[in-house]
This record gives sequence, structure tokens and C-alpha cells, in this order.
Amino acid sequence: MQLPREVIIGNGAIEQVAVISQKLGFTKSALIIAGSKTYDIAGRTVRDLLEDKKMSVHTFLVQTATIKDVEAVETEIEMLKPEIVFGVGGGTKIDVAKCSSARQSVPFISVPTTASHDGIASPLSSIKGLGTPYSIMAQAPLAIIADTNIIMQAPWRLAISGCADVIAKLTAVRDWKLAHEEKDEYYGAYAASLAHMSARLIIESAGLIRERSEEGIRVLIEALISCGVSMSIAGSSRPCSGSEHMFSHSLETIIPNCSMHGERCGVGAIMMAYLHKTNWSLVKATLQKLGAPTNAGELGVSREQIVRALELAASLRPERYTILNKLNLNRQAYERVAEATGVV
Ligand SMILES: [Zn+2]
Repeated sequence: MQLPREVIIGNGAIEQVAVISQKLGFTKSALIIAGSKTYDIAGRTVRDLLEDKKMSVHTFLVQTATIKDVEAVETEIEMLKPEIVFGVGGGTKIDVAKCSSARQSVPFISVPTTASHDGIASPLSSIKGLGTPYSIMAQAPLAIIADTNIIMQAPWRLAISGCADVIAKLTAVRDWKLAHEEKDEYYGAYAASLAHMSARLIIESAGLIRERSEEGIRVLIEALISCGVSMSIAGSSRPCSGSEHMFSHSLETIIPNCSMHGERCGVGAIMMAYLHKTNWSLVKATLQKLGAPTNAGELGVSREQIVRALELAASLRPERYTILNKLNLNRQAYERVAEATGVV
């Protein structure tokens, strides 16, 4: 079980970056992975602070999260042999930093500039070109430094997508429990409770988050980090990724870049909660309250694409048993689910 050793959340948290690095024993060299925008937003500050402590710092900019990007960073790590790798950015930069550092056995520190999904703290990376639309195991960040002031300046849609990714844990946990009961799959009650509690916390704090208060953003970041920790404890994405994530991955396969990861997971969670015969209208009402998409139109997709994504979802990841495998529905039944929940 790999867990973060230092988690710093707050206004101006980035100022702690050198102190944390030194505290963890990294005093000589670092490699910063960022995007061109995120370098301006936070990467340069990280670099300056580390250099102030006389550390040798290199920067490598990436734009996408493909296996090619990962290999390019690995070459950089082999050449520079940094003590520590920093991932500074939203999803893609952190994914690349996490995956490449894990493959080169170098520790990694996460400095998120957005709160759009749980990858900021999880041990998994989502990398294109590996033949899987879902995330793969990499390593947990040794530290997470989340500056609320920086994260609040990101487009609001990203934070709302992050909320939807957390709410989606309600159905992910149910799928995991189902797999335990029916397929005797390992089930960790502690990891499951942590993911479930994070989702409940977002539902309870929806009003606070909607006000765009710093306190609301803080609740979201803590929930995303708790989800990341739950995956570290479980040793897989099981507590945080069930049938709703498969629906999201299917839809992304059918229409790439149509919407954000969390947005699709939120809509998926409405329908999967319906199939689990749990409180799907609470999921929907909370997403609406937050201003997250709850139907095909708001996701920018058609009725046909939603139904096709539902049909494809169950076969996307055969080893991961969910409510979709249990019910084994046909096309007409999927249409009824999407209609009954108002998704189409
Ligand atoms: Zn997710």
C-alpha cells in the first residue's frame, strides 16, 4: 500500500513546495513536468522555489498524455537522474509525470492546478496508446501540494467535473460490493467507505461548492484526495471506478473529447444508480444543483450515442464485474433506462 506522506491544501500552499521537498530528503535535483500553460500558472513558481534552495531543476513540457510522451519523459529521467519528479498541471501532465516516474522508479510529487478528477492523488495514470481506455497502475504521489488559490482560477467547469467524478463513487462502490457478493472478488470495506464517504460529502456540500467559495473548493480537493487514497488502499481503481466509468470510457471511445471525464461519469452514475435501484434522483438533483450535465444534450451527444455507449460499456472491461454484467440488458432495456432517468 503506497500512501502520500505529505498533503498540503490551502491558499498559497505552493509556497511550501521547497520545504516539503527538503523535508522528504530531496535536496539536490528535480524534474518538473508541466504544460506550457501550467508552467506559467505554477511550474515556474515551483522551479524558482526549488532553485532558491540551490537545487538543480530541469523542466520538460508535455501537451498530451500518450505513451510517446511517457517515453520522452523516461529518456529525460534516465539522462538527468533527478531525485524527484514534480507533475504540475491538470489531468494530462500529472498522468505523464506519474507514469514515467513510476516506470523509472523515481518518486513523484503532485502539484495540481485543477480539481477536475481524482487522478491528482491516485496511483493510476490514464495514458493513450496502451490499448486500454481506462487507467493503469503507476504509483501514488509521495506528496500532494494543492494550492486553492491556483485551483480556483481554473475554469469553473473543471471543478464541477471533479465533483461529478466524486459523486460517481456511489455506484462504483455498489458495483464493487456486487462483485464481492456474486463473484467472490476481494472487497476492502475501509477503501469502499472512504470512496463512499467522499461522494456523500460532495452531495452534502453541493450548496457550498456552488457558491464557488474557497471552503467549497477545499471540500472538493479533500474528497478527490480521499478517493485517490482509497485506490491506493485497495491497490486498484475498484472503489472509484465501476459501471458509470465504463459508460464514460465507452462514450469517449465513440466520440472522443465530447465532454469531460467527470461530466460523463456523473451522467453514467444517474443511470447506474437507477439500475442498482438506489437513489438515482438524488444523484441527478445534486448534479443539477452544481450545474453539471445530466442528459445527452448537455453532454453534447445524441440519444443514439448514449444507447450505444451503454451497450458497449459491459464488454469494455470483462474482468470488472458490475451491475451491467449482472443484468445483461438488451438495446430496448438500455433505451428505457436512459428515458426513465431523463438522460435522453
Ligand atoms: Zn474518474
